[in-house]
Amino acid sequence: MISETKVAEYKKILEAEKALLEAELQKIGVRDPSNPSDWVAAKATDDSFGADRNDNADIFEEMQDANATISKLEVRFQEVSDALAKIDAGTYGVCEISGTEIEADRLEANPAARTCKAHMNQPR
Ligand SMILES: [Zn+2]
Repeated sequence: MISETKVAEYKKILEAEKALLEAELQKIGVRDPSNPSDWVAAKATDDSFGADRNDNADIFEEMQDANATISKLEVRFQEVSDALAKIDAGTYGVCEISGTEIEADRLEANPAARTCKAHMNQPR
């Protein structure tokens, strides 16, 4: 079993990371009004497309970059949120696939890990 001290330590790390991810998401994105748990690139919502083709291409590229970054941040945000929810539920540190305890060094490297080492590359 992971000690309560360790779990408390990981909880702090995860909460800090969650706040950081949220700040990052707010910087480059806005919450999708139709789905508040989803984020979209900030520029996707305004009508800044103009007559200049080059400007449009730049804006489009920027939006694509922003959306790619947002997607990555969202995935991590979800992982971190899930890990925090598990800490609250008392089910933290158990592999989602095999149900065995996640190795200590794996949690040390990634406190949001969902699986043990044997299942780390399995899709959810
Ligand atoms: Zn496993």
